[in-house]
Amino acid sequence: MDGIEKNMLNLNLALDLLRASYKPLLVLCFFSALSLCLCHPLYCLPLQGDSERYKNLRYEMVDKQITARGIEDENVLQAMREVPRHLFVPERRRPSAYGDFPLPIGYGQTISQPYIVALMTELLKPEKDHVALEVGTGSGYQAAVLSRIVKKVYTMEIIPPLGNAAEKRLKEVAFNNITVKVGDGYYGWEEYAPFDCIIVTAASDHIPPPLIQQLKKGGKMTIPVGHPFQVQTLMLVEKSKEGEVQVKNILAVRFVPLRRKWK
Ligand code: SAH
Repeated sequence: MDGIEKNMLNLNLALDLLRASYKPLLVLCFFSALSLCLCHPLYCLPLQGDSERYKNLRYEMVDKQITARGIEDENVLQAMREVPRHLFVPERRRPSAYGDFPLPIGYGQTISQPYIVALMTELLKPEKDHVALEVGTGSGYQAAVLSRIVKKVYTMEIIPPLGNAAEKRLKEVAFNNITVKVGDGYYGWEEYAPFDCIIVTAASDHIPPPLIQQLKKGGKMTIPVGHPFQVQTLMLVEKSKEGEVQVKNILAVRFVPLRRKWK
């Protein structure tokens, strides 16, 4: 047997060996993939099935957490049914996106509990020709809900990476009537004032005077007021047609603080 023949023999032996181990290897790969899917069903589902599943969770959320607690504005309920909340939370939190609680969104901030989003939106009595200001974009979820009801939403976020991520996300999900700005919302957004509704989603120890000033006559603002690290009071601020300001206490809430600086 010369050298070439010897090499051919070795090659054939190697191929035989490969063929023998090929099927068990395939079977092993199949079962590994299957067990991975079973361990993380939500991550492995194709997007279509995923959406259907999340849609069911969303309708259930509206029935059990929102309608059941007395929210009646059909536009608010419909907006909460439509906005895919799971796309506004970090990927690993998606399975709990429709739970009855707030969730962390990074940088020590949170997306509010669905019921609080619905309540604050309903209190504003939003209408389709309204222009709204939100202070505290966070994930962009509250802005997205409001944008399904009003003509235009301006929203401000003080933490640049959160504001930028929200802007990108809102574009991707095709919310085209929202403009995001990174900056201190304490001063409002003079350029587009006055606003029919203002929603502040971070707690302040007082109602920022610039926001009262930028509220249109006949307009409404919701804001959590109180000590930043304790329970606060959700307040409804109403400006009459004559420009008189009235404040009503709605309920006890807990929000992250309205800060004046980041870093
Ligand atoms: N509305 C958000 C949740 C808000 S959490 C949502 O739907 O996800 C409160 C947000 O307010 C945080 O992202 C925080 O960074 C932001 N924030 C705090 N102080 C602010 C200020 N002065 N101006 C603008 N945003 C502020």
